[in-house]
Amino acid sequence: MNPPWDDPLAEALEQQRRAGLLRCLIPVAAADARTLQLEGRFLVNFGSNDYLGLARHPALQEAALRAIRDWGTGSTASRLICGSLALHHELEECLAAFKGTEAALTFATGHAAAMGTIPALVTKGDLVLLDRLAHACLVDAARASGATLRVFRHNDLADLQRLLEWADRYRSAAAVAPRLPRILVVTESVFSMDGDRAPLREIVDLKDRHGAWLFVDEAHATGLIGPRGSGCIAEAGLTARVEIHMGTLGKALGSAGGFIAGSRRLIEWLVQRARTFMFSTAPPPAQVAAARAAVELVQGNEGQQLRDRLWQNVRSAAAILAERGVVPAATARAPASAILPWVVGDNETALACAAAARQAGLFIPAVRYPAVGRNAARLRITISAAHQPRDIERLRTLVTDLQQRFGWSNSRAST
Ligand SMILES: *Cc1c(COP(=O)(O)O)cnc(C)c1O
Repeated sequence: MNPPWDDPLAEALEQQRRAGLLRCLIPVAAADARTLQLEGRFLVNFGSNDYLGLARHPALQEAALRAIRDWGTGSTASRLICGSLALHHELEECLAAFKGTEAALTFATGHAAAMGTIPALVTKGDLVLLDRLAHACLVDAARASGATLRVFRHNDLADLQRLLEWADRYRSAAAVAPRLPRILVVTESVFSMDGDRAPLREIVDLKDRHGAWLFVDEAHATGLIGPRGSGCIAEAGLTARVEIHMGTLGKALGSAGGFIAGSRRLIEWLVQRARTFMFSTAPPPAQVAAARAAVELVQGNEGQQLRDRLWQNVRSAAAILAERGVVPAATARAPASAILPWVVGDNETALACAAAARQAGLFIPAVRYPAVGRNAARLRITISAAHQPRDIERLRTLVTDLQQRFGWSNSRAST
């Protein structure tokens, strides 16, 4: 008599639970960018990435409904077979204009954009230099490429320079290989779990000096930062100097999907080699049409008004958190993003804080390893233009209560 085949999974799950790392899915009964209904209660939502509230915007909903009426619910095939609908081409032209690049290519998700693109550009014998805090999809993509992966300390230019110098020596030593090894530097413009920004100007200078390419993931900047919300790269005037621009359509843009923007050759090459693009059914009409409506909306007056409201909310929230020593004073003076992390330490503490927040009527997700480093578990507070000033004000009571409950002085829990 053999034991059930999934006994080892039960053990592994128990280990996960003991480490405070067990994930549970809780059905959300209703949600928008401001509130969500969980286990029968309405909570203020400080967990979504719907920074501008676009996921419920009538213009996006109308565009999606129209696309369903005109095109149906599915795109029926890969882009390379017969799934390359006019809608996809229109969105891609729109994205290229938005980003100021020659061309763009959309993927079903941001994760798929990274997984398709990095392995299409580098392989065994090449090098990928990755910021330590880069998103899991960038790590997965770099690993899947087969290139040699080296990690530099977060936003540390000296460490990146050290790796680039090592890469130069590696490249000279490989001069007899069929082609010169490629060096790809990969980073985010706004980091998803820390909410800080990469020093893009300096990184661009460095990679240029060493003949490397640069891939920048703008998931948390797209729609929010830079001219007409086009991102940090454009804000820094670096559009033409970054080889591979990545963005997502499921966060501030309120739809779903990912995209790569860059030169026409880059995009044409990805059509040949990005496996998540080639061997996957094209994103459905509703998703594509909503994304297109969002890209137009964020570039207009309403987009600007929503951004103004968002940054006003972010500044109020950051001021409250800085007052309690939870985020640095510099964050309150000039918030880098709409993500305000409160690092509390271990997993159990983060879970207890998130549970206490829910008790108090606020939904704030606890983010744990491996999404963040061990012992850097945190409450990840995200702010939206949809929040009302009184929603933001509730953070003050919550932080004060948690600091009392856990015996943290005003600065003890600060990062
Ligand atoms: C969310 C996110 C992704 C993945 O995008 P999806 O569309 O959700 O798959 C990639 N990179 C970063 C930095 C992200 O935050």
